[in-house]
Amino acid sequence: DTSRLTRIDETSWQIEPSGAMRVPGIIYGDETLIRAMDDKVAEQTANVASLPGIVKGAYVMPDAHWGYGFPIGGVAAFDPNEGGVVSAGGVGFDVSCGVRTLLTGLTVPEVRRVQERLADALMSSIPAGVGSHSGITLQGREMDAMLRGGAAWAVEKGWGGAEDLARIEERGRMEGADPDCVSERAKKRQRREMGTLGSGNHYLEVQAVETLYDPDTAAVLGLAEGDVVVTIHCGSRGLGHQIGTEFLRDMLPAAAEAGIHLPDRELACAPIHSPIGERYLGAMRSAINCALANRQILGEFAREVFARFFPDHPLDLLYDVSHNTCKVETHTVDGRPRRLFVHRKGATRAFGPAHADLPEALRGVGQPVLIGGSMGTGSHILVGTGAGDKAFSSACHGAGRAMSRRAALKRWRGRQVVDELAERGILIRSPSMRGVAEEAPGAYKDVDQVVIAAERAGLARRVAHLRPLICVKG
Ligand code: 5GP
Ligand code: MN
Ligand code: MN
Repeated sequence: DTSRLTRIDETSWQIEPSGAMRVPGIIYGDETLIRAMDDKVAEQTANVASLPGIVKGAYVMPDAHWGYGFPIGGVAAFDPNEGGVVSAGGVGFDVSCGVRTLLTGLTVPEVRRVQERLADALMSSIPAGVGSHSGITLQGREMDAMLRGGAAWAVEKGWGGAEDLARIEERGRMEGADPDCVSERAKKRQRREMGTLGSGNHYLEVQAVETLYDPDTAAVLGLAEGDVVVTIHCGSRGLGHQIGTEFLRDMLPAAAEAGIHLPDRELACAPIHSPIGERYLGAMRSAINCALANRQILGEFAREVFARFFPDHPLDLLYDVSHNTCKVETHTVDGRPRRLFVHRKGATRAFGPAHADLPEALRGVGQPVLIGGSMGTGSHILVGTGAGDKAFSSACHGAGRAMSRRAALKRWRGRQVVDELAERGILIRSPSMRGVAEEAPGAYKDVDQVVIAAERAGLARRVAHLRPLICVKG
């Protein structure tokens, strides 16, 4: 249903403000993507646009689909000085779910020679699936130290090196985390979950760099055609999920008390400067650190496995970026720099060249935007453009689901998916064949179409297309 949408140009569509909407909704995508988007997206976008303190617009990325309250693929920024809110539903349950890509310095033929054994070794060293365990247990002060320290904590504990930190958002450690704001229940759920991938669409993938769209930028990122990279997609595990659940529940009465009218109870939120708003920020930032530490540990597990096969090829971190966060950033709005609370839920931060938060080596080209596609099709690396600070410097985060898990289960059998992909040289390792069926490549939109739309919309620029060789799937 595109009846509410006015087309602005080839890849941007607008929902004019009406009713309670304070700003327009802006949806990015080509005509086919927009037509295929579920109706709920426009409705949810209009709802987000009605929240207090929202600035400029409620933005939606080309991979968007229905989510809890906010659409997945949604971006919204709020001004604390104009009654702006923070919303647990605007961040998502898997707080700081994100992607990290490591360079191996290996070529496809080198990996092909050991592909089966490498897949098995990764499968046995990377804890994947419900209830898997890495052997790391954390509690008490050590849990709190992790929640404060993020990937920097992991490096101190011996997982990886200090040089990794420059290549992680926030230099590996989110400021303002307050473990006292995290419930005992959330911490308990995390006790045995550090260094685990989790289930569903989380993965560790060995990928071949297949196509370069911009060889010069690729060279700066350390990518050449035929190279092999390792990509990890996962988040803050049980801890993040518990925080999301608790604050969604507690923000509902808080919104009512603050006199905020919610068009949908799933939009539960609280003023940024309120006790619960501040408590959420302290907890959510702890969960960001949990995710950063988790990916740092998993990256180290991958390094240990690769070192057994290729002792002369240490894995270098290219970049690590989250796609479920709320962050304080300065953006220029109507010519004036403003400090805003930017929610990205299923959307990747995409800072352009010269941004001060980027490591020096990447400042000339912009921030890497790491996009998953599916275990059968491929993935992409883009960079932020900074052009016009569109959508508060955000881009898509994946292909986005084209059908529900249930529909996918009816359509495919996991074993068959694994066999078909093996014939195409892609080795899937997963503890759950049901999970593989739910995640069948056909259950996702065409990732190429999504990133082309993101590029045409000026959100980010394509640099490289990656093809899967091995996928360890949660
Ligand atoms: P989400 O963060 O919403 O859970 O997922 C992000 C994106 O990851 C999805 O939109 C999908 O395109 C992508 N994805 C899911 N499973 C896989 C996989 O096994 N391999 C790759 N490369 N991408 C995947
Ligand atoms: Mn996730
Ligand atoms: Mn994710």
